[in-house]
Amino acid sequence: SVKDKVAIITGSNSGIGLGVAEELARLGARVVLNSFSDSEEDHALAERIAAEHGTDVIYISADMSDAEACRSLVTKAAEHFGTVDILINNAGIQHVAAIEEFPIGKWDAIIAINMSSAFHTTAAALPLMRKSGWGRVVNIASAHGLTASPYKSAYVAAKHGVVGLTKVTALETAQEPITANAICPGYVMTPLVEKQIPETMEKYGMDRDTAVKEVLLARQPSKEFATVEQIGGTVAYLCSDAAEQVTGTTISIDGGWTAL
Ligand code: NAD
Repeated sequence: SVKDKVAIITGSNSGIGLGVAEELARLGARVVLNSFSDSEEDHALAERIAAEHGTDVIYISADMSDAEACRSLVTKAAEHFGTVDILINNAGIQHVAAIEEFPIGKWDAIIAINMSSAFHTTAAALPLMRKSGWGRVVNIASAHGLTASPYKSAYVAAKHGVVGLTKVTALETAQEPITANAICPGYVMTPLVEKQIPETMEKYGMDRDTAVKEVLLARQPSKEFATVEQIGGTVAYLCSDAAEQVTGTTISIDGGWTAL
Protein backbone atom coordinates (compact mmCIF):
# COMPACT_ATOMS: atom_id res chain seq x y z
CA SER A 1 0.00 0.00 0.00
CA VAL A 2 1.17 3.54 -0.67
CA LYS A 3 -0.01 4.78 2.74
CA ASP A 4 2.78 6.81 4.37
CA LYS A 5 5.13 6.09 1.46
CA VAL A 6 7.15 9.10 0.29
CA ALA A 7 6.44 10.02 -3.34
CA ILE A 8 8.21 12.59 -5.51
CA ILE A 9 6.38 13.68 -8.64
CA THR A 10 8.49 15.87 -10.93
CA GLY A 11 6.61 18.62 -12.76
CA SER A 12 3.52 18.36 -10.58
CA ASN A 13 2.02 21.84 -10.31
CA SER A 14 -0.32 21.14 -13.24
CA GLY A 15 -1.71 18.50 -15.57
CA ILE A 16 -0.78 14.83 -15.26
CA GLY A 17 1.79 15.38 -12.49
CA LEU A 18 -0.77 17.17 -10.35
CA GLY A 19 -3.37 14.46 -11.03
CA VAL A 20 -0.92 11.75 -9.97
CA ALA A 21 0.08 13.74 -6.86
CA GLU A 22 -3.57 14.14 -5.86
CA GLU A 23 -4.25 10.41 -6.29
CA LEU A 24 -1.20 9.41 -4.23
CA ALA A 25 -2.15 11.95 -1.52
CA ARG A 26 -5.71 10.57 -1.53
CA LEU A 27 -4.24 7.12 -0.87
CA GLY A 28 -2.26 8.49 2.08
CA ALA A 29 1.20 8.89 0.58
CA ARG A 30 3.46 11.72 1.73
CA VAL A 31 3.98 13.79 -1.37
CA VAL A 32 6.67 16.07 -2.81
CA LEU A 33 5.35 18.46 -5.44
CA ASN A 34 7.88 19.96 -7.85
CA SER A 35 8.23 22.56 -10.57
CA PHE A 36 10.79 25.28 -11.24
CA SER A 37 8.55 28.31 -10.58
CA ASP A 38 8.70 28.41 -6.73
CA SER A 39 5.63 30.69 -6.58
CA GLU A 40 3.23 31.36 -3.72
CA GLU A 41 0.64 29.35 -5.66
CA ASP A 42 2.98 26.33 -5.75
CA HIS A 43 3.35 26.31 -1.97
CA ALA A 44 -0.39 27.01 -1.50
CA LEU A 45 -1.17 24.04 -3.75
CA ALA A 46 0.89 21.76 -1.48
CA GLU A 47 -1.00 23.09 1.57
CA ARG A 48 -4.36 22.63 -0.14
CA ILE A 49 -3.66 18.98 -1.08
CA ALA A 50 -2.28 18.24 2.40
CA ALA A 51 -5.38 19.69 4.09
CA GLU A 52 -7.78 17.97 1.69
CA HIS A 53 -6.31 14.48 2.19
CA GLY A 54 -4.89 14.75 5.71
CA THR A 55 -1.36 13.87 4.64
CA ASP A 56 2.01 15.65 4.41
CA VAL A 57 2.67 17.48 1.16
CA ILE A 58 5.61 19.79 0.48
CA TYR A 59 6.68 21.73 -2.56
CA ILE A 60 10.36 21.66 -3.60
CA SER A 61 11.50 23.85 -6.46
CA ALA A 62 14.02 22.29 -8.85
CA ASP A 63 14.73 22.87 -12.53
CA MET A 64 14.63 19.48 -14.23
CA SER A 65 16.91 20.75 -17.03
CA ASP A 66 19.74 20.94 -14.46
CA ALA A 67 21.43 17.62 -13.54
CA GLU A 68 22.48 18.72 -10.05
CA ALA A 69 19.03 20.19 -9.33
CA CYS A 70 17.43 16.85 -10.26
CA ARG A 71 19.68 14.98 -7.86
CA SER A 72 19.26 17.50 -5.05
CA LEU A 73 15.45 17.34 -5.40
CA VAL A 74 15.72 13.71 -4.28
CA THR A 75 18.23 14.54 -1.53
CA LYS A 76 16.07 17.37 -0.17
CA ALA A 77 12.95 15.17 -0.20
CA ALA A 78 14.84 12.48 1.76
CA GLU A 79 16.15 15.08 4.21
CA HIS A 80 12.59 16.19 4.87
CA PHE A 81 10.75 12.86 4.93
CA GLY A 82 13.57 10.41 5.78
CA THR A 83 13.51 8.50 2.48
CA VAL A 84 12.02 8.31 -1.02
CA ASP A 85 9.87 5.30 -1.91
CA ILE A 86 8.06 6.33 -5.09
CA LEU A 87 9.62 8.34 -7.90
CA ILE A 88 7.36 9.60 -10.69
CA ASN A 89 9.34 11.20 -13.53
CA ASN A 90 6.73 13.37 -15.20
CA ALA A 91 8.19 16.81 -16.03
CA GLY A 92 8.11 17.43 -19.75
CA ILE A 93 7.90 20.03 -22.49
CA GLN A 94 7.19 19.93 -26.22
CA HIS A 95 8.37 21.80 -29.30
CA VAL A 96 7.19 21.18 -32.85
CA ALA A 97 9.43 21.91 -35.86
CA ALA A 98 11.04 20.11 -38.80
CA ILE A 99 14.45 18.61 -37.99
CA GLU A 100 16.43 21.09 -40.08
CA GLU A 101 14.65 24.01 -38.42
CA PHE A 102 14.57 22.58 -34.90
CA PRO A 103 16.27 25.11 -32.57
CA ILE A 104 19.35 23.54 -30.94
CA GLY A 105 18.42 25.03 -27.57
CA LYS A 106 14.95 23.45 -27.73
CA TRP A 107 16.46 20.07 -28.63
CA ASP A 108 18.84 20.27 -25.65
CA ALA A 109 16.08 21.41 -23.26
CA ILE A 110 13.69 18.62 -24.29
CA ILE A 111 16.37 15.94 -24.03
CA ALA A 112 17.37 17.29 -20.60
CA ILE A 113 13.87 17.79 -19.09
CA ASN A 114 12.01 14.89 -20.73
CA MET A 115 14.78 12.27 -20.57
CA SER A 116 18.01 13.04 -18.69
CA SER A 117 16.14 14.29 -15.60
CA ALA A 118 14.77 10.75 -15.10
CA PHE A 119 18.32 9.36 -15.20
CA HIS A 120 19.48 11.82 -12.53
CA THR A 121 16.51 11.41 -10.17
CA THR A 122 16.64 7.61 -10.55
CA ALA A 123 20.37 7.58 -9.79
CA ALA A 124 19.73 9.57 -6.61
CA ALA A 125 16.62 7.61 -5.55
CA LEU A 126 17.70 3.96 -6.05
CA PRO A 127 20.15 3.90 -3.10
CA LEU A 128 17.35 5.19 -0.82
CA MET A 129 14.90 2.57 -2.12
CA ARG A 130 17.51 -0.17 -1.63
CA LYS A 131 18.13 0.96 1.92
CA SER A 132 14.46 1.00 2.87
CA GLY A 133 13.78 -2.23 0.95
CA TRP A 134 10.97 -1.08 -1.33
CA GLY A 135 10.71 1.20 -4.33
CA ARG A 136 8.66 2.14 -7.34
CA VAL A 137 9.90 4.15 -10.33
CA VAL A 138 7.20 5.25 -12.77
CA ASN A 139 8.28 7.20 -15.82
CA ILE A 140 5.59 9.15 -17.64
CA ALA A 141 6.62 8.50 -21.23
CA SER A 142 4.09 8.83 -24.06
CA ALA A 143 2.60 7.06 -27.06
CA HIS A 144 5.52 8.93 -28.63
CA GLY A 145 7.82 6.65 -26.62
CA LEU A 146 6.59 3.77 -28.80
CA THR A 147 5.70 5.40 -32.11
CA ALA A 148 6.56 8.62 -33.93
CA SER A 149 4.99 11.71 -35.47
CA PRO A 150 6.70 14.18 -37.81
CA TYR A 151 8.06 17.45 -36.42
CA LYS A 152 8.48 16.10 -32.88
CA SER A 153 12.06 14.83 -33.19
CA ALA A 154 13.30 15.83 -29.75
CA TYR A 155 10.13 14.73 -27.94
CA VAL A 156 9.95 11.35 -29.73
CA ALA A 157 13.69 10.74 -29.21
CA ALA A 158 13.47 11.67 -25.51
CA LYS A 159 10.35 9.55 -24.87
CA HIS A 160 11.85 6.51 -26.65
CA GLY A 161 14.92 7.12 -24.48
CA VAL A 162 12.80 7.14 -21.34
CA VAL A 163 11.30 3.78 -22.31
CA GLY A 164 14.83 2.40 -22.76
CA LEU A 165 15.99 3.84 -19.43
CA THR A 166 12.95 2.27 -17.75
CA LYS A 167 13.98 -1.19 -19.02
CA VAL A 168 17.55 -0.77 -17.79
CA THR A 169 16.33 0.45 -14.39
CA ALA A 170 14.11 -2.64 -14.16
CA LEU A 171 16.96 -5.00 -15.01
CA GLU A 172 19.34 -3.41 -12.52
CA THR A 173 16.73 -3.81 -9.75
CA ALA A 174 15.17 -7.08 -10.96
CA GLN A 175 16.11 -9.13 -7.87
CA GLU A 176 15.12 -6.41 -5.42
CA PRO A 177 11.69 -5.25 -4.21
CA ILE A 178 11.90 -2.35 -6.64
CA THR A 179 10.09 -2.01 -9.96
CA ALA A 180 10.43 0.44 -12.83
CA ASN A 181 7.78 0.95 -15.49
CA ALA A 182 6.70 3.54 -18.02
CA ILE A 183 3.19 4.82 -18.64
CA CYS A 184 2.56 5.79 -22.26
CA PRO A 185 -0.43 8.13 -22.52
CA GLY A 186 -1.97 9.22 -25.79
CA TYR A 187 -3.82 12.53 -25.53
CA VAL A 188 -4.77 13.37 -21.96
CA MET A 189 -7.17 16.14 -21.02
CA THR A 190 -5.00 18.74 -19.25
CA PRO A 191 -5.30 22.55 -19.09
CA LEU A 192 -2.78 22.67 -21.95
CA VAL A 193 -4.93 20.49 -24.21
CA GLU A 194 -8.17 22.22 -23.11
CA LYS A 195 -6.68 25.51 -24.34
CA GLN A 196 -6.07 24.02 -27.79
CA ILE A 197 -9.77 23.24 -28.33
CA PRO A 198 -11.05 26.82 -28.96
CA GLU A 199 -7.91 27.55 -31.00
CA THR A 200 -8.52 24.49 -33.19
CA MET A 201 -12.25 25.29 -33.56
CA GLU A 202 -11.35 28.76 -34.80
CA LYS A 203 -8.50 27.67 -37.08
CA TYR A 204 -10.59 25.06 -38.92
CA GLY A 205 -14.02 26.65 -38.46
CA MET A 206 -15.26 23.51 -36.69
CA ASP A 207 -17.62 22.92 -33.81
CA ARG A 208 -16.11 21.60 -30.58
CA ASP A 209 -16.93 17.94 -31.15
CA THR A 210 -15.54 17.89 -34.70
CA ALA A 211 -12.37 19.78 -33.71
CA VAL A 212 -11.74 17.33 -30.87
CA LYS A 213 -12.48 14.12 -32.80
CA GLU A 214 -11.05 14.97 -36.22
CA VAL A 215 -8.05 17.14 -35.32
CA LEU A 216 -6.90 16.67 -31.71
CA LEU A 217 -7.87 13.00 -31.47
CA ALA A 218 -7.17 12.16 -35.12
CA ARG A 219 -4.84 9.31 -34.08
CA GLN A 220 -6.68 8.18 -30.94
CA PRO A 221 -9.16 5.49 -32.09
CA SER A 222 -11.36 5.78 -28.98
CA LYS A 223 -11.99 9.47 -29.86
CA GLU A 224 -11.86 10.17 -26.14
CA PHE A 225 -9.15 11.86 -24.10
CA ALA A 226 -7.61 9.97 -21.21
CA THR A 227 -7.96 11.78 -17.86
CA VAL A 228 -5.33 12.67 -15.28
CA GLU A 229 -7.34 10.58 -12.80
CA GLN A 230 -6.85 7.54 -15.04
CA ILE A 231 -3.09 8.15 -15.12
CA GLY A 232 -3.18 8.51 -11.31
CA GLY A 233 -5.08 5.23 -11.02
CA THR A 234 -2.48 3.46 -13.16
CA VAL A 235 0.33 4.81 -10.97
CA ALA A 236 -1.58 3.53 -7.92
CA TYR A 237 -1.83 0.08 -9.55
CA LEU A 238 1.92 0.04 -10.31
CA CYS A 239 2.55 0.86 -6.63
CA SER A 240 0.23 -1.91 -5.42
CA ASP A 241 1.16 -5.47 -4.42
CA ALA A 242 -0.66 -6.75 -7.52
CA ALA A 243 2.06 -5.15 -9.65
CA GLU A 244 5.03 -6.62 -7.77
CA GLN A 245 6.14 -8.64 -10.81
CA VAL A 246 5.32 -5.91 -13.32
CA THR A 247 8.67 -4.34 -14.17
CA GLY A 248 10.51 -3.05 -17.21
CA THR A 249 7.36 -2.67 -19.26
CA THR A 250 5.10 0.01 -20.68
CA ILE A 251 1.40 0.55 -20.04
CA SER A 252 -0.35 2.39 -22.83
CA ILE A 253 -3.31 4.62 -21.95
CA ASP A 254 -3.99 5.80 -25.47
CA GLY A 255 -7.46 4.67 -26.57
CA GLY A 256 -5.88 2.26 -29.05
CA TRP A 257 -3.38 4.65 -30.72
CA THR A 258 -0.42 2.27 -30.64
CA ALA A 259 -2.59 -0.65 -31.82
CA LEU A 260 -2.98 1.07 -35.19
P1 NAD B 1 1.86 20.30 -18.27
O1 NAD B 1 2.51 21.35 -19.08
O2 NAD B 1 0.51 20.54 -17.68
O3 NAD B 1 2.84 19.82 -17.11
C1 NAD B 1 4.22 19.82 -17.25
C2 NAD B 1 4.81 19.91 -15.88
O4 NAD B 1 6.24 19.92 -16.01
C3 NAD B 1 4.43 21.20 -15.17
O5 NAD B 1 4.18 20.93 -13.82
C4 NAD B 1 5.68 22.06 -15.31
O6 NAD B 1 5.84 22.96 -14.23
C5 NAD B 1 6.75 20.99 -15.29
N1 NAD B 1 8.01 21.43 -15.87
C6 NAD B 1 8.26 21.86 -17.12
N2 NAD B 1 9.56 22.20 -17.25
C7 NAD B 1 10.15 21.95 -16.05
C8 NAD B 1 11.47 22.10 -15.53
N3 NAD B 1 12.46 22.58 -16.29
N4 NAD B 1 11.69 21.77 -14.24
C9 NAD B 1 10.70 21.30 -13.46
N5 NAD B 1 9.44 21.14 -13.89
C10 NAD B 1 9.17 21.47 -15.17
O7 NAD B 1 1.82 19.00 -19.22
P2 NAD B 1 1.22 17.53 -19.01
O8 NAD B 1 0.37 17.28 -20.19
O9 NAD B 1 0.65 17.33 -17.67
O10 NAD B 1 2.54 16.65 -19.19
C11 NAD B 1 3.15 15.92 -18.15
C12 NAD B 1 3.96 14.78 -18.76
O11 NAD B 1 3.10 13.89 -19.46
C13 NAD B 1 5.02 15.21 -19.76
O12 NAD B 1 6.19 14.44 -19.62
C14 NAD B 1 4.36 14.93 -21.09
O13 NAD B 1 5.30 14.71 -22.11
C15 NAD B 1 3.58 13.69 -20.75
N6 NAD B 1 2.47 13.41 -21.65
C16 NAD B 1 1.40 14.25 -21.76
C17 NAD B 1 0.35 13.95 -22.62
C18 NAD B 1 -0.89 14.83 -22.77
O14 NAD B 1 -1.69 14.59 -23.66
N7 NAD B 1 -1.10 15.83 -21.94
C19 NAD B 1 0.43 12.78 -23.39
C20 NAD B 1 1.53 11.94 -23.26
C21 NAD B 1 2.54 12.26 -22.38
